[in-house]
Amino acid sequence: MTENTAPGRHDVIIIGAGAAGLYMLHTCRRMGLDAVVLERGDGVGGTWYWNRYPGARCDVESLDYSYSFDEDLQREWRWAEKYATQPEILAYLEHVADRFDLRRDIRLGADVVAADFDEADGAWRVRTTDGRETTATWVVAATGVLSAPKRTRFPGQDDFTGTVLNSARWPAGGHDFTGKRVAVIGTGSTGIQITPLVAQDAAKVFVLQRTPSFSVPAHNRTLTDEEFTAAVARYPERRRAARTTLLGVDTRNPDVSTFDVSEEEVQAAYRKTFDYGGPMKLLTTFNDPIVDKRANDVVAAFLADRIRERVGDPGLAERLIPDHPVGARRLCVDTDYYETLTRDNVELVDLRETPLLGFTPTGVRTSAADHDVDVIVLATGFDAITGPLRGIDPHGRGGASLRGKWDAYPASYLGLMVAGFPNLFTVTGPLSPSVNSNMFVAIEQHVEFIAKLLAHAAERGHTVIEATPEAEERWTAHAAEVAAGTVFPLADSWYNGANIAGKAGAVLPYLGGIGGYQARLDEIAADGFRGFETAGRPAAAPSA
Ligand code: NAP
Repeated sequence: MTENTAPGRHDVIIIGAGAAGLYMLHTCRRMGLDAVVLERGDGVGGTWYWNRYPGARCDVESLDYSYSFDEDLQREWRWAEKYATQPEILAYLEHVADRFDLRRDIRLGADVVAADFDEADGAWRVRTTDGRETTATWVVAATGVLSAPKRTRFPGQDDFTGTVLNSARWPAGGHDFTGKRVAVIGTGSTGIQITPLVAQDAAKVFVLQRTPSFSVPAHNRTLTDEEFTAAVARYPERRRAARTTLLGVDTRNPDVSTFDVSEEEVQAAYRKTFDYGGPMKLLTTFNDPIVDKRANDVVAAFLADRIRERVGDPGLAERLIPDHPVGARRLCVDTDYYETLTRDNVELVDLRETPLLGFTPTGVRTSAADHDVDVIVLATGFDAITGPLRGIDPHGRGGASLRGKWDAYPASYLGLMVAGFPNLFTVTGPLSPSVNSNMFVAIEQHVEFIAKLLAHAAERGHTVIEATPEAEERWTAHAAEVAAGTVFPLADSWYNGANIAGKAGAVLPYLGGIGGYQARLDEIAADGFRGFETAGRPAAAPSA
């Protein structure tokens, strides 16, 4: 199905060689499309290439956090533990790149800085930092959702004479913390994973906490041969089920309300899912904490008690108990985080009591004290979901800027396309389930839908696909309505852009769940890809 006409013009440019980009390339190949991947890193793996900090691990179980598109691959890749480490996930993605011979179409070190739609030509011109321009009919932004680190500059940062390490740009060779004094800034999922590992080697660790997180233990362990064999035997069923659930894992959708059973039963049910470990089962113990604040208060109280239990010291525990609804900010997963905070060499610095004023030449300064350190670890988060594409700032019809559009509101049709930006697909874009689900399922959903949409256009001999403004408006309103019925708007978080100054305040992931979203995609495809217009040549904006 190769479509390109002009020499040097590809059918598809895929931006990013993470889990989404690799599968997109494989899919394009299978469709006979000529695709090239532009990847800014010096290796494949995306999120799992960059985030090499100590303790980096996924919070979705390894048996689920993997591709389902190839039977042999899923049978043969033997995950070692319940939750895979960053090195193992990176090794898996590298294996996929090799196994499917993807590397020959991946340009590493190709950092995309601009993308412009040439309306006359019906093509995207994509520029990289090396000044090279690459042209294609279609662009697939497989740019990831947590790949644009928040650009935090602290007062005095340039004068600090020690080492500053950003969790999302961790040195490939690691860092030796033995005997060092360290400040960790940030207590989200990343800070919570880093701290216990650093504290094992460092002389002293200051944990600088502005907003406490809820965190549940991972209860990580090795996967036994029996478990692995049993899981692999029923993999097709497990994968099918995952596509029908809220979170994209094979966990039943909850159908019981917190208030349908006795208080004792509620506590016992939460105890069971807490003891199992991880966020997925806990968040689906009952069907209402995400949509009913009163039900959320129940699980919040349960988790607050677990923090008190784990910390022991009541004063410390109270500083660690969040006041936002569970799940409205990412529920973190830890191995010994709270226990680590009780170590002699670890000190919690509560920035709500004593704000961080900046760096000194020898450490960090709060309103109460100077803390001298050798290393400052920034675990300060990301400009999530829209950030990576805001950085590239594609220009669509009439030279319109995507950043400009999303600065006003992160509108999108299905998280897949943006009106006014023909032939640009956004894998796990805003207003799709993305981070509020198992990302591998979300990625496969999108890549497979894009493939069907491309085939649909090709059958008509069409080379332009665009979301209509009306479809985008309806979907954007629907996503906002779903979000308004949840506890997500009740907290400032990266989910709603509140962690980035000036970012539009919309809940970015679609909260209708993977299963409901898949049903929508299927129905839209069956209805002639309703809301997407195709055309045979570059044309005026789609009709109303
Ligand atoms: P995050 O959740 O946004 O946490 C960033 C932390 O840095 C927050 O505690 C934040 O405090 C703090 N911070 C930011 N700017 C600050 C400043 N100027 N001064 C003081 N504190 C500041 O980012 P993250 O921990 O990197 O996690 C992002 C997401 O990545 C997670 O939610 C998760 O989805 C994913 N992730 C997953 C895993 C896993 O699978 N286990 C691990 C790591 C990351 P405020 O909240 O007060 O701003």
